[in-house]
Amino acid sequence: MKKLSGRIVIVTGAARGIGLAITRQCLQEGARVVMVDLRMEDLESARESLKDVPGDITIKACDVSNEDQVKELVNSVKTEFDALDALVNNAGITRDNLFMRMSFEQWQSVINVNLTGTYLMTRYCTALIRKSSAGRIINLSSVAANGNPGQANYSASKAGVIGLTKTLALELARYNITVNAIAPGFIETDMTRAIPEKAREEWLTKIPAGRAGKPSDVADAVIFLLSDAAAYVTGNILGVDGGLGL
Ligand code: NAP
Repeated sequence: MKKLSGRIVIVTGAARGIGLAITRQCLQEGARVVMVDLRMEDLESARESLKDVPGDITIKACDVSNEDQVKELVNSVKTEFDALDALVNNAGITRDNLFMRMSFEQWQSVINVNLTGTYLMTRYCTALIRKSSAGRIINLSSVAANGNPGQANYSASKAGVIGLTKTLALELARYNITVNAIAPGFIETDMTRAIPEKAREEWLTKIPAGRAGKPSDVADAVIFLLSDAAAYVTGNILGVDGGLGL
């Protein structure tokens, strides 16, 4: 029995890394997935890489930090499906620097995508999700929400996502929508491959499980939160970090 049969799920930042793994597993569980990312060509290659998985994929280019683009995206989903069961706010960026050297542009771009992008997508999708009998919103936070040198912008954005998640859980419970966040630790994607080798090795020594996470580890947790098994789970921040956040 597939866990998400017939559900319509939007996944942002779906062209690679964790978002691509989430898309793959949603399809395997019978969902119809709207993949959202910045560039159409990246989405096309991502769709190609999913050819081995049967399922219904729609691809949409959209910058989640741009209100007009988000409105247009959600309107197009409304026109095409007139329904939406779940939103996975996964798109995220890093622009690391020590705080005293961090430019306003580095600060603002990370807050705009990670926090404001999550706000905008949720703001415009919620009316559609309200019509679902099993509404779900899942936001990607991070262990870095607890603070991490060189990531004041990222850490603030991911801590903001936690506050947003908890408030939305309180406000949207009456509409049968659960709102949870996942806080990954160190997951092998392009985002962490960009970290210098020495720093990567240091991170790995700090993980109690003794290994980096895989995008599929995060996707497994997303599937649980999307499924009926998590119908009574809301306002939680689920660490997927091999113990790194403890
Ligand atoms: P990734 O490999 O860098 O992929 C992120 C995807 O989001 C990319 O396809 C990127 O497009 C897209 N994106 C960036 N800005 C966007 C925007 N404004 N609108 C739409 N799409 C946008 O990242 P990841 O490692 O899979 O991370 C996914 C999420 O998990 C992020 O929220 C991240 O903060 C969080 N996370 C990751 C880790 C980790 O260890 N990897 C740990 C904790 C939390 P481009 O390629 O064009 O930039």
